[in-house]
Amino acid sequence: MLPIVVIGAGPAGMLAAGRAAECGVPVRLLEKNQMPGRKLLITGAGRCNITSAVDLDTFIGQFFGQGRFLYPALQTMYREELLDLLARHGIRCQVDHQGKYFPVTGQSSDVLLAMLHYGQKQGVQLMTDCAVQSIQRVQDHFEILSSQGTVLAGAVILTTGGMTYPVTGSSGDGYRLAAQLGHSIVPPRPALAPFVVKQTYIQNLAGLSLPDVEVRLVQPGKKPVAGRGDLLLTHKGVSGPVILRLSRELSGSADVHINLVPSFARPALIAAILTVFNQNGRTHIKNCLDSFLPHRLVTPLLTAAGIDPDRMAAQAGRRIAEQIAQAISDWTLTVTGTQGIHIAMVTAGGVALREINPASLESRLVPGLYFAGEVLDLDGDTGGYNLQAACSTGYLAGQSAAAALLSHLRNDR
Ligand SMILES: Cc1cc2nc3c(=O)[nH]c(=O)nc-3n(C[C@H](O)[C@H](O)[C@H](O)COP(=O)(O)OP(=O)(O)OC[C@H]3O[C@@H](n4cnc5c(N)ncnc54)[C@H](O)[C@@H]3O)c2cc1C
Repeated sequence: MLPIVVIGAGPAGMLAAGRAAECGVPVRLLEKNQMPGRKLLITGAGRCNITSAVDLDTFIGQFFGQGRFLYPALQTMYREELLDLLARHGIRCQVDHQGKYFPVTGQSSDVLLAMLHYGQKQGVQLMTDCAVQSIQRVQDHFEILSSQGTVLAGAVILTTGGMTYPVTGSSGDGYRLAAQLGHSIVPPRPALAPFVVKQTYIQNLAGLSLPDVEVRLVQPGKKPVAGRGDLLLTHKGVSGPVILRLSRELSGSADVHINLVPSFARPALIAAILTVFNQNGRTHIKNCLDSFLPHRLVTPLLTAAGIDPDRMAAQAGRRIAEQIAQAISDWTLTVTGTQGIHIAMVTAGGVALREINPASLESRLVPGLYFAGEVLDLDGDTGGYNLQAACSTGYLAGQSAAAALLSHLRNDR
């Protein structure tokens, strides 16, 4: 029997290979890097947020309108099944207060070891330094041209990932390979990417974290979009979950309007600032706003809004309080773009879902060709959604490809 060949040893590929082999077929896993799972290692800042505590429907809702495609894969393997598989292969995970699951050791390398162990136990043959250049369907099998020569396959599972962080090996090869086989590719673009802003004073604020803020993204000719969550200031602009989530909506330049105190209505905020002024008359205003925003941000924010931070509170009347309220609840930054595909966490776009059967993840165009993971036109929010989706689709693709191959074999007898 010709093996199932899985192309790309990220989480989707490792689970696809492991599951196909577990179902009783020979499997080869081809990886162009010297080692598998390089992107997995940098996930969750090296801690690997592997999945989320949310229920299935909430999970589906985190995929920006495309999540329904994932139902069959998630019904085959959701959180408990994934956590159980990892535990059986050496690593237990625990949930944090935000509902994010991480390995108990806090090391993504332990998740990688568990996924590799799964494949090894089932007899998957891993070939590293093996970059796939082309795939051809020839009669009832595939010919795969790789940097290590031609590999024959009874079925192919393409799990080459997206094209963000290309240094990890995920550089968009899968789109080219899929297109060669006749598949449509929804143009890939960065998602979950930090914004670059024009205001240079932001550099001095890098590392400052602003919890639970409201952000409105306003772009010329487009309906504004808003989000709420934690924001992080970087050397070049803004990041953090609320920004990453909005980044897939950015198509050029834009303004972000940040409300640092979303729980305050404007009149209540003005009244609260006036109260603080009255209680601290002999203090510079820059030193009495700490209950509204981090101290490090006060002077740059007031200066940018044209307010003298060294004015005494006693001299600052209602008009200044109104200006400060405006600055705090509508801090506006000019976005010049995202930090780009090389730094985005996931790729939006990819192999068009309408050409793939979600129940098996087999191509509707090329029998015997399967897809899983980020190479698909699927991208989820931050919070463990993308890794769970990669694992679930990998697992289902491996299972479906093995079942189809075994059934062909039985029919041929
Ligand atoms: C910095 C960062 C942090 C992240 N953190 C999280 C997180 O905490 N939680 C979460 O859910 N998601 C996270 N993600 C997203 C997540 O890592 C990806 O969605 C996930 O890795 C996709 O898995 P995959 O198996 O589809 O592809 P990948 O992990 O990208 O793996 C694809 C593999 O295919 C190989 N390959 C590519 N082309 C070829 C070829 N021609 N021949 C052979 N092999 C090839 C690549 O080398 C690579 O090893 C993060 C992403 C980044 C960049």
